[in-house]
Amino acid sequence: MLLQIQDLPRKVTKDFLLQQVTARKIKAAPQFQFSNQVIALFNLQPPSSNLPLTVALDYQQGLIMTPRTTRQLLNDFSHQSIFNFQQSRMLVRQTQHPHFLPLILGRAAYLPLAGVSHGSTDWVGLHWQQDCWQNTPARQAEFITLQNKILQFTYSSYRNLEDAVHLTSYYSEYLCRILQLIVQASGAQLVSLPAAGLMHQFAQCSCRLHRQLPQTNSEVRQFLQSFQDWTLRQVAHFSELQLSAPLQEQTLKFWRSELAAVHCLW
Ligand SMILES: [Zn+2]
Repeated sequence: MLLQIQDLPRKVTKDFLLQQVTARKIKAAPQFQFSNQVIALFNLQPPSSNLPLTVALDYQQGLIMTPRTTRQLLNDFSHQSIFNFQQSRMLVRQTQHPHFLPLILGRAAYLPLAGVSHGSTDWVGLHWQQDCWQNTPARQAEFITLQNKILQFTYSSYRNLEDAVHLTSYYSEYLCRILQLIVQASGAQLVSLPAAGLMHQFAQCSCRLHRQLPQTNSEVRQFLQSFQDWTLRQVAHFSELQLSAPLQEQTLKFWRSELAAVHCLW
């Protein structure tokens, strides 16, 4: 019999999942696609094989295994989704935390449990968790899902887990505020679902960071401008062009003002 969420033990560890893989109790779905219904992605390495294996815990489909890595699953998702790592990167740039890239999909947000340079890692949907804690000596992180299951992961990051959740929640709130202001400016109204799970925990946070959440249309424009600046910077820094640093800055300024002209009548 295949395992569903309700059949899982209270605590789900990678060892448990590997046992279930061996016992063929997890549904194989090579075509599985990532969505915001995923509660967590476990990056597994079966001992008898050097092939990667991902087990997804999906709210709709239960446990699913696929030979694709977590990185492949998320990249495929990013190629067809409106929200992807591009918005997340712009958000991360603003707070100067370049080595930590969660996936922000508005109210849904996914936390990677290792840095971006680590290849495939485990990912946890924070909107599906009600709490989390970190056991630093054991190098573990545990999340308790909205379905009351405990998910255990290796967590050796130097970053405090609560800080990582707090920052991710800030990014999520930031993106939702931007969307709200855009919709408001168009004369429409956005009825947004309340933040769920761990995202809810910091939704009303009034720390220094959360006080920087966008309030005005000019902040929205600044955020949108950051996409154009990023593109222009990539082009100006293109090594084949061999532009000196001052010339790179000049190029950036020139094209920024040229492109700004599109916003005006003449
Ligand atoms: Zn805060």
